[in-house]
Amino acid sequence: MKLDSLRDVLNERVRDLYNAETQLVKALPRMAKAAASPDLKEAFTLHLEETKRQVERLDRVCEQLGVKAKGKTCQAMKGLIEEGAEIIAEDGSPAAKDAALIGAAQKIEHYEIAGYGTARTFAATLGEEEVAALLQETLDEEGATDEKLSGLAAELNEEAADEEGEEDEEEVVAAP
Ligand code: FE
Ligand code: FE
Ligand code: FE
Repeated sequence: MKLDSLRDVLNERVRDLYNAETQLVKALPRMAKAAASPDLKEAFTLHLEETKRQVERLDRVCEQLGVKAKGKTCQAMKGLIEEGAEIIAEDGSPAAKDAALIGAAQKIEHYEIAGYGTARTFAATLGEEEVAALLQETLDEEGATDEKLSGLAAELNEEAADEEGEEDEEEVVAAP
């Protein structure tokens, strides 16, 4: 895609976001399945439903801009999801894996926040108020999800940290 104007850049970014979200619709069920904490599982499941609505929102954005939504691959999201998959495939304690999974999920949200923030600003600059408002709506949802994950991390990381203590104690007991 040729980038000759800010509008070209906006269109390209929107298509990237569209692909990123559709990748997430496939990945979030796997992350929910892998989460040990019921709260984390629920957070991923709720964000999956939200993500499906975000794809619909981007459909409306593409329609408004006269852009074909499909056909681009977001390489960054591919990599971020792959990192999540590596964690899922790893052996380990449920609490430690949940801590790692939250970290991977927050990287995804931060990528989305950066992507939507940029696209929203481009749209506003171009006078595409409706598009800017739609992108802002999703941006707010990604921000809320990130905060929710931070809250869960505050609880669950403690558990994972305590496990280290337990292991150390075992080692001490086992020593001759
Ligand atoms: Fe999203
Ligand atoms: Fe991307
Ligand atoms: Fe998200």
